[in-house]
Amino acid sequence: CQASTDTHDTSFRKDDLPAHGVSEVIVGVLGGGQLGRMLCQAASEMAIKVMVLDPLANCPASAIAYDHMVGSFDDSATVQEFAKRCGVLTVEIEHVDAATMEKLEQQGVDCQPKASTIRIIQDKYLQKVHFSGHGIPLPDFVQIDDLEGAKRAGDLFGYPLMLKSKRLAYDGRGNAVAKSEEELSSAVNALGGFDRGLYVEKWTPFVKELAVIVARGRDNSISCYPVVETIHKENICHIVKAPAGIPWKIRKLATDVAHKAVSSLEGAGVFAVELFLTKDGQILLNEVAPRPHNSGHHTIEACYTSQFEQHLRAVLGLPLGDPSMKTPAAIMYNLLGEDEGEPGFHLAHQLIGRALNIQGASVHWYDKPEMRKQRKMGHITFTGPSMGIVEARLKSMLKEEGSESR
Ligand code: ATP
Ligand code: MG
Ligand code: MG
Repeated sequence: CQASTDTHDTSFRKDDLPAHGVSEVIVGVLGGGQLGRMLCQAASEMAIKVMVLDPLANCPASAIAYDHMVGSFDDSATVQEFAKRCGVLTVEIEHVDAATMEKLEQQGVDCQPKASTIRIIQDKYLQKVHFSGHGIPLPDFVQIDDLEGAKRAGDLFGYPLMLKSKRLAYDGRGNAVAKSEEELSSAVNALGGFDRGLYVEKWTPFVKELAVIVARGRDNSISCYPVVETIHKENICHIVKAPAGIPWKIRKLATDVAHKAVSSLEGAGVFAVELFLTKDGQILLNEVAPRPHNSGHHTIEACYTSQFEQHLRAVLGLPLGDPSMKTPAAIMYNLLGEDEGEPGFHLAHQLIGRALNIQGASVHWYDKPEMRKQRKMGHITFTGPSMGIVEARLKSMLKEEGSESR
């Protein structure tokens, strides 16, 4: 199924009607970046109150959140204080204090997804051990503790070899490739040394990268968004195409793997499952994010229920919404930061200027306090009647050959 709502009972019962509006429960979000901001935007449509905890006074979510507590989401006392003010605690980043979440759960605080899920996912090695133990296909991997261990892994898996930090990884910061045994020590150094906690993965020569956003309700109902193709540049998500241009059988396999992966985790919310498609038609899991994700930004314009609304519905115990696409095709293009300079001359600003003149283009700017090289500053989603047309719309923004504009 492309968008499976099979296990989700959408029948309407009068008793389910909330007493006041959609929900009176205050949703607390650890993190106030762009994902927190877009959660707040979705919440405002239904008058759901979202509070964020973020150390930056002018973080992207702060301007539109119901409330913003300035503080660290990785500090135990701060998270405990924050939790007192909310009815349900969720995350927009997995690098939070899992031990505190576990303690809060024991004290009766409602965390969605569960602290156990955050603990597994925030350590990429533990995540791999967990998923392989649940029979999910993934690239071969092994922990490395010293250079000898890294060499043994190189002998076993061959080169290039992917070295990864277990923790605090995002946007490829935490990955280093060794093309040969000679490059192993520089790759280890680039990741901060063995003390950081490292493991290696067998190189996967994928033909495409795919992703599936999977929503899980508090009643354990599961609903999958259509499979998308993600295109990365220098380890950072660059473009997302929805739906992915893949045969039906691959779509089904990718959805089944994503469904199985999320079923093995505890708690409600949306989860993003990143996948590799190999030449011989295998689907291997790369990693899972326990929250809304870059591969689901197009759902704001392209799906009946966006991933952000879906996350709120899930954590609040409301019925899950319809994940299917309401436009035939969509492309999301990330606006990445460049070195600081004259604002008007940044490529991102020029692209926005052009996008405002293109049919079916929606501009999102996260209003981050400062621009930094390779930082996600915003994104643009193109929707349209076919993939060919949305591709032409993207090309016209990028001023490439064969473009179409209004
Ligand atoms: P994110 O921002 O998605 O959290 P991350 O820092 O956790 O990224 P990964 O998802 O592990 O990093 O890897 C980033 C990218 O590097 C992948 O999307 C893929 O393009 C490439 N990559 C990762 N692992 C492998 C592998 N084993 N073989 C080949 N390429 C890989
Ligand atoms: Mg990651
Ligand atoms: Mg990733």
